[in-house]
Amino acid sequence: MSDRSQQTPAASGSATSAALTSIAAASMALLLTGCLAAQSAEAGAPSAEGSSDAPKNVIYMIGDGMGYNHVAATNLYESGQTKYQVEGEADPDTLEELPAEPVQGYEEWDSVAMSTYPEGGSYDGEEAWSDREYVNEGFTDSAAAGTAMATGTKTENGKIGVDSSGEPLENLSERAIDTGRSAGVVTTVPFNHATPAAWAAHNADRDDYTGMATEMIDGDLDVIMGAGHPEYDDDAEHLDTPDYEYLSEEDYDRVSSGETDFDFIEDNTDFEDLATGQSTAERVFGLAQAGSTLQYERDGSSDEVGGDEMNDLIDLSTMSQGALNTLSQNDDGFHLMIEGGAIDWAGHGNDTARDVEEVLDFNEAVDTVTQWVEENSSWEETLVIVTADHETGYLGGPDDDPDHSPMTGEPDETPEVSWSSEDHTNALVPVFYRGAGSDALTEKISGTDPVRGDYLDNTAIPEVLMEEFWVREEQ
Ligand SMILES: [Zn+2]
Repeated sequence: MSDRSQQTPAASGSATSAALTSIAAASMALLLTGCLAAQSAEAGAPSAEGSSDAPKNVIYMIGDGMGYNHVAATNLYESGQTKYQVEGEADPDTLEELPAEPVQGYEEWDSVAMSTYPEGGSYDGEEAWSDREYVNEGFTDSAAAGTAMATGTKTENGKIGVDSSGEPLENLSERAIDTGRSAGVVTTVPFNHATPAAWAAHNADRDDYTGMATEMIDGDLDVIMGAGHPEYDDDAEHLDTPDYEYLSEEDYDRVSSGETDFDFIEDNTDFEDLATGQSTAERVFGLAQAGSTLQYERDGSSDEVGGDEMNDLIDLSTMSQGALNTLSQNDDGFHLMIEGGAIDWAGHGNDTARDVEEVLDFNEAVDTVTQWVEENSSWEETLVIVTADHETGYLGGPDDDPDHSPMTGEPDETPEVSWSSEDHTNALVPVFYRGAGSDALTEKISGTDPVRGDYLDNTAIPEVLMEEFWVREEQ
């Protein structure tokens, strides 16, 4: 493997001042974590609220490519310390996570790890922690991972909602609708990119965007929101000549002109009005005015988090709030998949600052969902899952390879990291979950990793939902 590691320059010039800064950062981290611990104590102990009751609502939040260290890099940026760091020679008998405090609210929920490999693959924790190269082989793509997470059946890379022989698989959106619920997908990347498509389409070719757009527009979802607007570029500027990469001119015309029974929304005000309740819709197709991503692909050098001019566009949190308002009109419940899709794009680009930006945006959406549950529903009737479909970029500490090293950082500074891949890895990813039915997820643990601990497979969540909770009545 070529050495692609890159270090972000340290904030301080000399070793001495760097050491002093890190002592200051450590004490600040202690203060910060003290505050956070107090906050979460006030909010009650989430793990005690798990139950084995069937969830009325399920909100499945996926940071695409958001492995442990993507959560951690963002935690470092926010607080200067983080969980999940490992240090030392690759050795499953000695490596362990270094002690640290949670930063995000969801890190206090129940959590396990998750294996992500595609059909025909495997994961062996002893090997993964003996040899750093192990996770560079046999990794999933977002199509196979999304399909496993939405249907409970593993498939080959490149396939959306079909098994390896091309047979269509029932997904969680379909099961939700079949059991009287509403269903929707929301993403920061094109609305028919692999992850949302796995909850909405069946196609042996993940690159058949226009085909999947037709299937989604003609399908039963109540909410579809994302980027992929043919009339805008990646800087959210209007194009003179439309680019119909993600949906055909014909489909764009019929969905945008009201020929379907979706309410079509596209500008910021429309999304904001739906989020604040100024407007309502029974079914909504929200196409943000961006070519491929809300923020990641915008121009600029991406040296610092939030640097360069951000696109003046709504964020994942606003879209998620609008989707929740729309779907929760159904008294029988709903299923919503929310994807932070460009975390993966930043991982492929080994772009640390924008990776942190995308996880910050995703975390804000989790906060919005958490607040919605507490104000408009409850943990007794709603299950929220926060996870990833795979890790992207082999993100790690600055001294990685052949050893493992911890990433380090200070609040408001881009953390010091290395990237050991420009592709996905087969590393375990975290799953955080809270609410109705969460005990049943804990029962699906299928293995124990020497470093990350207990893990379940990426087919386990839809298995629980479809086989135990949202069982279709025999006809
Ligand atoms: Zn992915």
